[in-house]
Amino acid sequence: MMNHKVICWDCGATVEDPFVSICPRCGGLLTVKMDLEKVKEKKPADLRKEPLGVWRYSDFLPVDPAHKISIQEGGTPLYKTEALAEQASVKEMFVKFEGLNPTGSFKDRGMTVGVTRAKELDAKVVGCASTGNTSASLAAYAAKAGIKCAVFLPSGKVAAGKLAQALFYGAKVLSVDGNFDDALALARKMADEKKIYLLNSINPYRPEGQKSVLFEIMDQLEYGVPDRIVLPVGNAANIWAVYKALTELEEVGWIDKMPMLTGIQAEGSSPVAKAFSSHEEDFVPVENPETLATAIRIGNPVSGRKALMAIYGTGGYSATVTDEEIVSAQKLTARREGVFVEPASAASVAGILKLREQGIIDRDERVVAICTGNGLKDPDTAVKYSEPPIKCANSVAEVEKILSR
Ligand SMILES: *Cc1c(COP(=O)(O)O)cnc(C)c1O
Ligand SMILES: [Zn+2]
Repeated sequence: MMNHKVICWDCGATVEDPFVSICPRCGGLLTVKMDLEKVKEKKPADLRKEPLGVWRYSDFLPVDPAHKISIQEGGTPLYKTEALAEQASVKEMFVKFEGLNPTGSFKDRGMTVGVTRAKELDAKVVGCASTGNTSASLAAYAAKAGIKCAVFLPSGKVAAGKLAQALFYGAKVLSVDGNFDDALALARKMADEKKIYLLNSINPYRPEGQKSVLFEIMDQLEYGVPDRIVLPVGNAANIWAVYKALTELEEVGWIDKMPMLTGIQAEGSSPVAKAFSSHEEDFVPVENPETLATAIRIGNPVSGRKALMAIYGTGGYSATVTDEEIVSAQKLTARREGVFVEPASAASVAGILKLREQGIIDRDERVVAICTGNGLKDPDTAVKYSEPPIKCANSVAEVEKILSR
């Protein structure tokens, strides 16, 4: 099925070797160019025979759904969050809760497509470097596909839930000295020697699956384009994927305007937001990124330049939030909406509160926050920033006393 080709995002060359992850000619980033001519004859309703989820949008995917490796990813709720809207004082606010994917983060959207591709290529071993969620997701999809899996994690810097998942799904879990950027360098070396099929987001097939979060949001809003979509930015593939999805919907004529894409980073790990604030098209890597939001603790984002294009191309924005603002938004989302997101995901909510306060987001806006992962992934951070359980004797009177405080 050739509904696409892989090209270099920088020089435009067509790339034939399916096992390279950068352009053999110029070293640039790769991307998939979809042929959407046939899709132009369809309308959104034609796709609704399939359930809400990644594979409803097969027309926009570069792999054959007939042999998909799937554990029912996507189809996540878009909550109308009235309490958060009131708190932020915006007209309408929604949370797209990606924590309800099979392994608890949006990474499953990319992995179902990436591992389906690995299977097409008859790859013997798949691998990735990860701050946690990518490895949890790859381990699950590799298990489903029956392919051997190696994940490279920075030593001691992975949230407990994510580590448990990678171990339990049966991946070879390798703890690498150094940070995420070091772990990725090793994984890339393995891929260069063709010892693994690399499924980091530098692999052009993964963002293709990640486009589906935008397709679903549009479906759930009946194709009424929101004013703004806000998401956390780490390695920056997700914001790029959302932008790519928007350009494809525009190409087939299903939308005629774009939401302002707004990328939020943690203050201690914010190369993209810094570049945006000085109107640059490229970023300067951050040497030692630090934030409690481990999923976005990335100093040298692989898709950073693509993210900046997504932001500039939609008249969007980029800003930072502090760790305190992240935890406070995480609590607010749990306590006002009953939605428990992981710290990185709360960056989008924190960003909305902050940018509204600064007047960058307007009161009249209809805003969507993408909350990328589940709070259960990182119980240690949640417990650390909560009051400890209250000691209580086995007595009704004492319970009453405590409840009346
Ligand atoms: C991966 C991840 C991110 C960052 O996404 P990028 O595509 O790397 O920008 C944010 N939040 C969670 C929960 C993640 O797992
Ligand atoms: Zn090139």
